[in-house]
Amino acid sequence: MVEEKAKGKIDLTSEMYKAILERGEEGVLQSDLWKELGLTSRDGSRIALRLERRKLIKRERVLKNGRWTYRLTPIRFPVDFSSIEGVPCITCPYENQCMPDGIISPTNCPLERYGRGLADWVLEGYKKRRKR
Ligand code: SF4
Repeated sequence: MVEEKAKGKIDLTSEMYKAILERGEEGVLQSDLWKELGLTSRDGSRIALRLERRKLIKRERVLKNGRWTYRLTPIRFPVDFSSIEGVPCITCPYENQCMPDGIISPTNCPLERYGRGLADWVLEGYKKRRKR
């Protein structure tokens, strides 16, 4: 159950990040994106704030048809989105405490106990590449 919930959160966050990346520097109005992804404004805002905290996107307040909303634009453009798709660090609750030489680190990733850690993600990618 915890694993499924974490996976859903990672998938939705990746999906939103991918959709924002696809818009390029022009970005997208958040209300349009919520519609496209079938999200409530509460869930959509929560995910967008998470992406902003990770410094992956920028949220800019804009006036559209007399109403205030946000335009979401990517800050970083990966060379190939598939290289970061599903990476658990995007939604990780420990991301702020995770450091190479810290108690929480990529080599001691707490999400591994749910099978959703960084090493699991790397291994999944490796298995997918070997199948090709
Ligand atoms: S390595 Fe593990 S603990 Fe660190 S940010 Fe990534 S998912 Fe979180």
